[in-house]
Amino acid sequence: MSTKRAVHHWIDGAEVAGDATERIDVVNPATSAVIGDLPAGTAADVDRAVAAARRALPQWSAVPVSERAAALGRIADGLLARIDDIGATVSSEMGAPVEYAKAAQAEVPAQIVRNFAALAGEFAWEEELGNALVVREPVGVVGAITPWNAPLYQTVAKVAPALLAGNTMVFKPSVLTGLTGDLFAQITAAAGIPAGVFNIVHGAGSVIGDAISNHADIDMVSFTGSTGAGKQVSIAATGTVKRVALELGGKSANIILEDADLQKAVAIGMEYAWVNGGQTCAAWTRMLVPASRHDEIVELAVAAARSFTVGDPADPATRIGPMCSTKQQRRVAGYIERGIADGATVAFGGAGPVEGLAENVAGGAYVRPTIFANVKPDAVIAQEEIFGPVLSIIPYADEEEAVAIANNSIFGLGGAVFGEPDHALAVARRMRTGQVIVNGGEYNLAAPFGGYKQSGNGRELGRPGLEEFLEVKSIHR
Ligand code: NAD
Repeated sequence: MSTKRAVHHWIDGAEVAGDATERIDVVNPATSAVIGDLPAGTAADVDRAVAAARRALPQWSAVPVSERAAALGRIADGLLARIDDIGATVSSEMGAPVEYAKAAQAEVPAQIVRNFAALAGEFAWEEELGNALVVREPVGVVGAITPWNAPLYQTVAKVAPALLAGNTMVFKPSVLTGLTGDLFAQITAAAGIPAGVFNIVHGAGSVIGDAISNHADIDMVSFTGSTGAGKQVSIAATGTVKRVALELGGKSANIILEDADLQKAVAIGMEYAWVNGGQTCAAWTRMLVPASRHDEIVELAVAAARSFTVGDPADPATRIGPMCSTKQQRRVAGYIERGIADGATVAFGGAGPVEGLAENVAGGAYVRPTIFANVKPDAVIAQEEIFGPVLSIIPYADEEEAVAIANNSIFGLGGAVFGEPDHALAVARRMRTGQVIVNGGEYNLAAPFGGYKQSGNGRELGRPGLEEFLEVKSIHR
């Protein structure tokens, strides 16, 4: 993108400059170019957006569900109609390879929106229970806060069910991906979402995120982001006892069993570890392998790693772009140095700059994709979420130990098992985590997604992902 985009808040169906005296630059992490800016919003801007959402609530919640579902269909169409702009914008804001960005931030979100629209017709909005009529009603005004790593995926995972349920919203995207947030506001407007139903306030998490979380007139906050910030949201929300749904970090384990197809397990395992530059919440960052097959698996992983071309995210041949920012680059590089200092074996990559980058991205926020072998289960790199292309291969002695290592984490978000199908399924059942992919099974976007333990307390997608945005009323007659 050559032109710089200046975006504003989106409140009550219009662009609003708001109270901000400062603007926040949006920087392309591959080139360091400033590609746009957005307002550093204030708590007063949140108040305006909440007031607009509150005014719009009675009318929107009274719109028949079938019409709200039809509006979702138009949002899905809008996502696909703007796929090239979405791909280019997401890629230039946070560094994801452009073709991946199109698929993951336009096609997949469109599918999620369509899935919710389809769910509308089969969902039990009301149930008779003896003499009781159980009705499901919108929670009210929903605050939504999202990270940068999968900006539109996370947006629609909240917006589609929340609007379908009849809520109105105040949405805060990450400051790194505010341009994508603004694109989405335009898509909702083009889809005919009435003024005030969906509002965006841009700005820092500590200001806008906090104002949303503690706002007396917001009924629910749905948060996706780091576990640390999620805890802050919970604390800020306590005073108003609003509903809090958290989708947080992860450190997911890929258990490769003795009877697995090793080639397949490693090929798919590497993809799930490093897709989006390892900046996915459910990345399989711990590969658990039988000790007797460790060296063989490390060789396979290193061979697979060579196909992850690092480069300009605008180049369709690139599989790993820069980290989303120089801050993230420093964080990931710090973990690589920590792994080395703690004695893990560098099997691929390691500390230091990426060689051979094209001139236009040579100063970008790149790290060397790295595989550590023979990692101890309690090592820092095996316990903390790195959010970069860093894989820890951890040997285990037997299956009991494999399950224990997998569950030895404060997180419980994703995971995988490879092995003979029944055997792998039995192991999957023992994992304390919200989703497990067995033998690379296709990811089902209609199934619920969420975390155990400190990975969160809610569910997105599927029926539970809609129920999250509904109150339940029992009327006894
Ligand atoms: P982050 O926690 O720094 O920020 C996420 C959002 O929260 C941003 O919009 C930010 O401005 C806001 N925020 C920050 N501090 C806040 C506060 N005190 N109160 C309210 N809002 C606040 O996370 P990030 O770096 O943007 O994203 C990466 C993290 O998100 C990783 O930990 C990743 O695992 C997690 N994540 C989880 C899921 C999931 O579904 N479980 C999905 C994607 C990403």
